[in-house]
Parts: sequence; structure tokens; C-alpha cells
Amino acid sequence: MDCIFCKIVAGEIPADILYQDEGVVAFRDINPLAPIHLQIIPGKHIPSLAHLSEAESSLIGDMVNTANQLAKKEGISESGYRLVINCGKQGGQFVPHLHMHLLGGRQLSNALG
Ligand code: AMP
Ligand code: ZN
Repeated sequence: MDCIFCKIVAGEIPADILYQDEGVVAFRDINPLAPIHLQIIPGKHIPSLAHLSEAESSLIGDMVNTANQLAKKEGISESGYRLVINCGKQGGQFVPHLHMHLLGGRQLSNALG
């Protein structure tokens, strides 16, 4: 499978992995847009939010729980943070493996689009 995030999950390319269990993997973004910029992804290859089946939707809750725990660990739980999932081309998704951005550590802009 020619997917960069699947390769990170499999340990085939290096990443700064902060958390990994049977369902979810989290690592630092290679091109951080904020002092804290993490990626939280399912270990399983799901191309985008639009490909998530109802049966798989509890994964999103697991990803949010992981993000909340990591925000605490990174010390931004009180100051605040943002979780973002881009979906598809017009949604700004470049890596075709479902992922949630965790951004924080500075004042983020109000612009969403
Ligand atoms: P998106 O635009 O939502 O698809 O975001 C993809 C994100 O993945 C970007 O923030 C990239 O910097 C990040 N990214 C791409 N390749 C890697 C990598 N090898 N390790 C960590 N983050 C990556
Ligand atoms: Zn993948």
C-alpha cells in the first residue's frame, strides 16, 4: 500500500510517534503550523472521513480521546487547542489516509476557510 501514513503505522518510515494502540496512532506533524501540531490517525487505512462506515465511526471518538490526552501531556489543555479533519480535495486534504490535526501552543486565527 503506497500510503505515507500506513508506512508510519508499519514503522517503515520514521515519525515522532507519541501514542500507538491497536486502533489509533499519533505523531508530530513533519511541517508544524503551530508550536504543537500532531496527527491523530486510525491505524487502519481509511482514505477519508467520507469513507468512514457507520460501524467504524467510534474510531472518531477514540481519536478525540487520544487528542485530549495528548493535549494534556503537551500542556495545552488549559490554553486551548483545535482539532481539524480535512476531507477531500476542496476540504484541503492532501494525505489520503484519514487524520485529525491537533493544533495549539499559540493563538490560532478565527479563519476557518
Ligand atoms: P492534510 O492537508 O489534512 O492532508 O494534512 C496532511 C498533513 O500531514 C500535513 O500537515 C503534513 O505536514 C503532514 N505530513 C505529511 N507527511 C508527513 C510525515 N511523513 N510525517 C508527519 N506528518 C506528515
Ligand atoms: Zn494509509
